[in-house]
Amino acid sequence: MISPELLNILTCPSCGCAVREKENAIECTACKNRYPIENGIPVLLVDRAQKPKN
Ligand SMILES: [Zn+2]
Repeated sequence: MISPELLNILTCPSCGCAVREKENAIECTACKNRYPIENGIPVLLVDRAQKPKN
């Protein structure tokens, strides 16, 4: 679980928009890129982004 306070200050490294936690990953609210959470730490790296399908 990522704390809401942390989520509030995190932004997508690709587009700079807000992110949210979804299914044990971090998802950008704008571009929908998904970033892994490893050992409870969000890995907000473009290299690690899982791009949305379609
Ligand atoms: Zn984004």
